[in-house]
Amino acid sequence: MSRFYAGFAADGAPVQVRFGAGARHDLSPELELLGIARALVLTTPHQAEQGEDIVRSLGDRAVGLFSGAAMHTPVETTETAMDRAKDCGADGVVAIGGGSTIGLAKAVAWRSDLPQIVLPTTYAGSEATPVLGQTENGVKSTFASQRVQPEAIVYDPELVATLPAGLTVTSALNAMAHAVEGLYSRDANRLSSALAMEGIRAFVRGLPNVVETPGDLAAREDTLFGAWLCGTVLGQVGMALHHKLCHTLGGTLGLPHSETHAIVLPHAVAYNEGAARDALKPVADLLGADTAAGGLYILAKRLGAPLALRDLGVSQDALETVADLATQNPYWNPRPVERAALRALLQDAYLGDPPNSGERQ
Ligand code: NAD
Repeated sequence: MSRFYAGFAADGAPVQVRFGAGARHDLSPELELLGIARALVLTTPHQAEQGEDIVRSLGDRAVGLFSGAAMHTPVETTETAMDRAKDCGADGVVAIGGGSTIGLAKAVAWRSDLPQIVLPTTYAGSEATPVLGQTENGVKSTFASQRVQPEAIVYDPELVATLPAGLTVTSALNAMAHAVEGLYSRDANRLSSALAMEGIRAFVRGLPNVVETPGDLAAREDTLFGAWLCGTVLGQVGMALHHKLCHTLGGTLGLPHSETHAIVLPHAVAYNEGAARDALKPVADLLGADTAAGGLYILAKRLGAPLALRDLGVSQDALETVADLATQNPYWNPRPVERAALRALLQDAYLGDPPNSGERQ
């Protein structure tokens, strides 16, 4: 019997998904579906203007704007947003933003069970997962529950058209990392691998166009489609070394999320490629490279992504701590996580060298 069908099951809460340029201006289908008549709109301070735009479109179905969302969903911020939701009698939230704002919507839903409509403005993919990471007293913890899965997602390509070029590329590589690790996940199945490859394909197809012409809405829509698929993979199967390293780097050194993913991805893939060659071969083939790791490195370089951890302000000494922490309690990984090999990987990522440069010496 095929390994794909033995014991295979697909589950998860139904999610309403709609794509369309300008779709954010009329959220009636989602509001009616979820019975929301008094929405609280959520954004980061940086995107408050986009939040005001949504408040105007909602008219009397908006009861307020909370523009305090912050990276890694601090519990204090969630409590302030909860007070705001109670004060204005909100019966639902509309989040417009990246993973930080969507994280806040999920944290509010976890505490109140208010329904969520989310309008992603990056490719991070949080909208497609039942996962919430929150920070309390500087410690981040993550859990999964269908209660935090947003009920409705509206992908409006005009929203990602305002993403700066740098964030466009790093956020896309962040999304692709979910799919690439999904391919060699312990839980990979035929559906998750099909979604992963289609998601990667959408980015490889659309990214050069959106970098060259940021306002190309057809290409932006293609990349958002990729984000949805890659995020869905993240929600369905377990992640491995790449995500562990990025969480460790982000958590201990406070590095920016998507840039860290963009830099680490080719190196983590190189670490695993020998143990997961069959799973990664479609990625190498798609990128026209001998290896998936080499192809991803060249893609990142060609698109102008940051390549070196030292350019994010990481010190050589910090690599020792990260190697220690990432070796302790590792996530499941196709290749055993060994400190010396991990340290060599981190050195390549630190210098921005091609993957496996350290191991070859
Ligand atoms: P972000 O939401 O932190 O956004 C980064 C900055 O870019 C913010 O200032 C934001 O306001 C701004 N921005 C976002 N979209 C913009 C746009 N279209 N135009 C201009 N500026 C824009 O970044 P992110 O990478 O989307 O999210 C990172 C966070 O999401 C992390 O905390 C990460 O842990 C979390 N995350 C969670 C999951 C999950 O499943 N729970 C998945 C992915 C990411």
